[in-house]
Amino acid sequence: MNVYHITYEPETRTAYLYFWGCNFSCRGCIRRKDVYDMHLHGPQRAGNPGPVRLLSQSEIADVVNELNAKRVTCLGGDASIDQELSSLLARLKKDSRTYNILLTNGYCLPDLKPIDEIQISLKALDDRLHKDFTGKSNLTILENINLAYDYGLKLRMESILIPAYIDRQEIEAIARFIAGIDPIIPYRIDAFIPVPGTDWRQPTLEEIESAAHATRRYLRNVTFLCGKEKPRSQIRKII
Ligand code: SF4
Repeated sequence: MNVYHITYEPETRTAYLYFWGCNFSCRGCIRRKDVYDMHLHGPQRAGNPGPVRLLSQSEIADVVNELNAKRVTCLGGDASIDQELSSLLARLKKDSRTYNILLTNGYCLPDLKPIDEIQISLKALDDRLHKDFTGKSNLTILENINLAYDYGLKLRMESILIPAYIDRQEIEAIARFIAGIDPIIPYRIDAFIPVPGTDWRQPTLEEIESAAHATRRYLRNVTFLCGKEKPRSQIRKII
């Protein structure tokens, strides 16, 4: 499989599975900076790797089982492009009774049966802007958001605020789109974290609060990350 890194948070009994590879090449992807769990610190941090070792489905299932994890979050990279994702999640649900969460850009929807919750990151509603940032059109993603909602999955949405690029007006347009599906869908706005190769800056706290305030006119459950949150210290590296 594409899984190369696993971390665990005992407090929530969550295993985080990190998938290598993505079908987008976002200009502001945080993975240009670091491909490991951002909550790790000290000797657990390994920096950016050379070639990574990809784990087999059995290895992953054994780790989740030994941890006695009750929640599994698939992130990365984009787990949806892994052909074995659905069979892994079905296996974990059957053997370890896990609650399965998929974080994705929403471009490819895998079999939704073994997934309990999906968190879709919509980078822009304006397709020109979306193509400029990710290299791909958002038309399929907009359809997939509706499909996931109609399927009855727990759906959460998120976006990245980038001053003078994906700005407050764009975030507000995304919020209006989400509200057109259901205003109670939770929406999180993440502050852009500068990465090598871009000259965009991180938004100030006031800018991100202002974007959140604007979206609350349409959505009932809006949160944000300002980029200065303390890492969750309980998380430890497994692989
Ligand atoms: S979709 Fe996510 S993981 Fe993929 S390139 Fe964009 S920011 Fe990075």
